[in-house]
Amino acid sequence: MAAPETRALPARRLELMMPDLKPALTEAQARAEASRCLYCNDAPCIAACPTAINIPEFIRKIDSGNYRGSARTILDANILGYSCALVCPVEVLCVGACVYNHQDRPPIQIGLLQRFATERAYEKGTRFFEKGAPTGKRVALVGAGPASLACAHELTRLGHEAVCLEARQLPGGLNTTGCAPYKIRSETALLEVDYIKGIGFEVRTGVEVGGNVTLAELEKTYDAIFLGVGLGPDSRLGLPGENLRGVLGACDLIERIKNRETVPEVEAAREAVVVGGGNTAIDIARELARLGLHVTQLYRRGPTEMGAYAHEQTYARKEGVEFRYWEQPVAYVAGKQGPEKERVRSVQCVKMAQTGAGRQPEPVRGSEHELPADLVAVATGQEKLVSQLRTIAGIKFGADGRIEVEPSTCATGNSRYWAGGDCANGGKEVVNAAAEGKRAARAIDAAFKAALRRAPGAGARGA
Ligand SMILES: Cc1cc2nc3c(=O)[nH]c(=O)nc-3n(C[C@H](O)[C@H](O)[C@H](O)COP(=O)(O)OP(=O)(O)OC[C@H]3O[C@@H](n4cnc5c(N)ncnc54)[C@H](O)[C@@H]3O)c2cc1C
Ligand code: SF4
Repeated sequence: MAAPETRALPARRLELMMPDLKPALTEAQARAEASRCLYCNDAPCIAACPTAINIPEFIRKIDSGNYRGSARTILDANILGYSCALVCPVEVLCVGACVYNHQDRPPIQIGLLQRFATERAYEKGTRFFEKGAPTGKRVALVGAGPASLACAHELTRLGHEAVCLEARQLPGGLNTTGCAPYKIRSETALLEVDYIKGIGFEVRTGVEVGGNVTLAELEKTYDAIFLGVGLGPDSRLGLPGENLRGVLGACDLIERIKNRETVPEVEAAREAVVVGGGNTAIDIARELARLGLHVTQLYRRGPTEMGAYAHEQTYARKEGVEFRYWEQPVAYVAGKQGPEKERVRSVQCVKMAQTGAGRQPEPVRGSEHELPADLVAVATGQEKLVSQLRTIAGIKFGADGRIEVEPSTCATGNSRYWAGGDCANGGKEVVNAAAEGKRAARAIDAAFKAALRRAPGAGARGA
């Protein structure tokens, strides 16, 4: 089954050179793995899942051969259950919580079982949910990433009309543009979008809210607005040489690897330097290593302070990424002659140390040195997309730029706006965005119902 949007993807992409990290289970393997589950009471795996999927229930259904029922259990709790099966850091969520971890036995491979059930449902085109009876209410969703898609799906089930407005040409948010190709490919992300919107809501791509259409216009046409805009472009450190060819923001580079036909900066490179210690830094380091580059990752603190998950660091090391801790770049240096003139040739670095009582690492005098690099990926965070939203009356922002919401409802300080996903949580995982999108939909529904109860004549019987 191919999603119509996949036609917009070039047939040749670097992401296609990276095979699945965790290949799908065969039916026999899935049945054998499912049969190991202990179906725990108060299952800790459920508590560890932000969307609270009833994991023992869906595993039991696989064990009994009810694959359709299994997929229903998963997707009823989390409509992004397919991509979550592929991209969730299960090692620190459900699988990490499995009781087998305390018994010195391998934990249940929950992600792979979830993939088995949902992938089968996708392959068979099985649909489980329908549009609710129309309420006449309309909701605009800004962005078509996991948060907005989860919200739009739930709103549609509840009978409201939902329209996602997406600035990019392709929907799916970071599932399509950011998550590592060895976990999910862009066409898989687009297939999921197609499946989710198949319930009957619209996704309009190439529509930038704040550009082609304003929030004021949306306010006139829609009864509520959900902000699922994610985070902004890669942050930069402002170092000399940052504009050289071959010095790129990590998310920008990952998007090119996933969605473009060619990425000349990667194809011409041998030596890559990755700057940063978070999960995005590890992702791009692993992707470049898998594409055959020698990768050095610079981090200005030590291994235990790294933001990246420990399991990701271990994989990266196995894949040949060389870590240099307590080092940071101070400048990117251009090649001196010929056609390579404006391209980066090396990274000037310094060693760092935690001197004195201060916790901030500081450059060690006289430690300057150069590392060869014909490609640099800067993964030092993403900016927040606040500028266009600052005009909305009542919406508040935290000191770090995230939209402040009431956690149980995702409501903002403006009664017509809700927000969820990375723009409100500061940048977590797909499963958090899915949970928040659904929670917001239910709160929007409750707000519509409350307004109806308050309306003049509400509750009157007869005329
Ligand atoms: C490199 C990278 C790798 C990641 N890997 C993983 C992983 O392996 N597993 C995992 O669980 N999570 C991963 N994450 C995190 C995960 O992708 C995000 O938490 C999740 O996608 C957030 O969903 P969202 O809908 O809030 O935002 P996004 O996915 O960012 O979607 C927001 C959408 O809104 C659109 N938009 C923004 N502004 C406007 C506007 N003005 N008008 C219209 N549209 C607009 C954007 O174009 C985008 O498509 C990764 C993140 C990054 C950066
Ligand atoms: S904790 Fe492990 S064994 Fe228990 S229900 Fe969850 S997956 Fe099964």
